[in-house]
Amino acid sequence: MLLRKLFPALILISVIAFLILAAADAGDKLSESLVSVPEKFDGVPILMYHKINPDPGTGGYGLRVSPRDFEKQVAYLARSGYTSVSLTDLADHHEKGKPLPPRPVVITFDDGYLDNYVYAYPILRKYGMTATVFVVAGTVGGINGFDYSEGRQPLNRMAGWRELEEMAEGGITIGAHTLTHPSLTGLEPEAARHEITEGKKRLEAALKRPVEVFCYPYGNYDQAIVQIVRESGFRAAVTADQGLGRYREDPYALKRIRVRGDYSYGRFLQELTRYHSE
Ligand SMILES: [Zn+2]
Repeated sequence: MLLRKLFPALILISVIAFLILAAADAGDKLSESLVSVPEKFDGVPILMYHKINPDPGTGGYGLRVSPRDFEKQVAYLARSGYTSVSLTDLADHHEKGKPLPPRPVVITFDDGYLDNYVYAYPILRKYGMTATVFVVAGTVGGINGFDYSEGRQPLNRMAGWRELEEMAEGGITIGAHTLTHPSLTGLEPEAARHEITEGKKRLEAALKRPVEVFCYPYGNYDQAIVQIVRESGFRAAVTADQGLGRYREDPYALKRIRVRGDYSYGRFLQELTRYHSE
């Protein structure tokens, strides 16, 4: 009897839910129809992510994208003909003439959070995409002491060696992001050199593979820091400057495209393509 009374309400709720989902889907389709994927790439979009996590307690939208949004973004890249390449592929292309796919994209994650392994890695695998994870070598298996201790971010767990090794085996490129994540431009040259070289050494020793790409903590760099990165044997370095990655212009100051957690789907598509007209 009760069920009979509730039935019309259930039908109504189902119809409303369906309409909401259909409208959201139509909105996504509309957003996609408004962007055009450039046929010829004059630079490579290097997407910058940090945390991929559904838990708001792990950080604000500046550094955290929900797994649901991340999956929509990766799915779009996959079905629009983008192929993910690593920064070493980019270096090989310019230094050795190794061909790049027609629509290359580089997906990067800064810092090496455990959620990269838990949430992002399975999504990347599902869509056949790869990525680069820049690891703070001194925090592996620990916490984000570099911004948690100053109260700037909530506590986050960092990926351990086992997770990093599994991702590296699965085709994820591991890049270096110093030993303790200082702002390198504020250090004495020898301290900066120690951070840069020791971070690389520790990753290479533990993962038994070369670490050839670097990411400046907080995006802070100057010519002296670039020189140390170059001398330390890195082939490329990324910044937090916004734009396309143009390896030919400066392999040690590659621009990226930040993806914030509060971006709508349409905004993500705009960000992905906006620098091509430069
Ligand atoms: Zn960082």
